Amino acid sequence: MDLRLAPETAYKNASQIARVSTEKWALDNFYCASCGAGLAQYPDNTPLYDFHSPECQEKFQLKASKRQFGSSVLDSEYSTALEGILKDAYPSLILLRYDATRWVVSDLELIHRACLTTSCLKRRKPLSATARRAGWEGCIISLSSVPALGRIGIVRNGNIRPKRAILEQWKQSNRLLETEPQARGWVADVLACVEKLYSTFTLENVYSFEKDLATKHPKNLHVRAKIRQQLQVLRDLGLVEFVSPGVYRRL
Ligand SMILES: [Zn+2]
Repeated sequence: MDLRLAPETAYKNASQIARVSTEKWALDNFYCASCGAGLAQYPDNTPLYDFHSPECQEKFQLKASKRQFGSSVLDSEYSTALEGILKDAYPSLILLRYDATRWVVSDLELIHRACLTTSCLKRRKPLSATARRAGWEGCIISLSSVPALGRIGIVRNGNIRPKRAILEQWKQSNRLLETEPQARGWVADVLACVEKLYSTFTLENVYSFEKDLATKHPKNLHVRAKIRQQLQVLRDLGLVEFVSPGVYRRL
């Protein structure tokens, strides 16, 4: 992996140069985290997708920025994103931060699509009646709602993580795909709580997140029962182990 970007000087507009250069970089340097093969590009303006793996058909969307990614990223149309998530067709996100002075990739993170659930999707206010696309509704992806399992760090401050570690973490996150996309928000949300605890934890520890979970899922009135159910799901997925009654261990 060569972290240098080749500025596409054929373009005049700075954001266009950045977009084309980072896309070219991903095509030449990045790979499919599922099978390790090189990526292929979709035609410009394809909704949701920028790249796919010709080997295993995994799909990816690139988001490039010269600034550090914060707790959320802008996405496109709300209904397209929601439908994509519910149909298990939403792509994994490649978050690429580049240094615009030295023209190199400084950070690269992959967000596994299994961890991009309806809980991560926040709708934005529709565009006003006077806007050109009046009523158009965008959305943001809340990165802080993504479990750590699905946040696969690849480059951090110029240091590259080995490819086998990336493929291994991908395989782990893949397990969440065994659940239905409609139900995955709850599983991922409880997993994100469990990740904040010590590796061995109690049911009471997880109940301490009851309020947060109730805010995220206002329609559910039985949050504690839901927590217990999700712990069973996490056990069946091989992500949590039941040690003794009311005591669990993260795997
Ligand atoms: Zn692949």
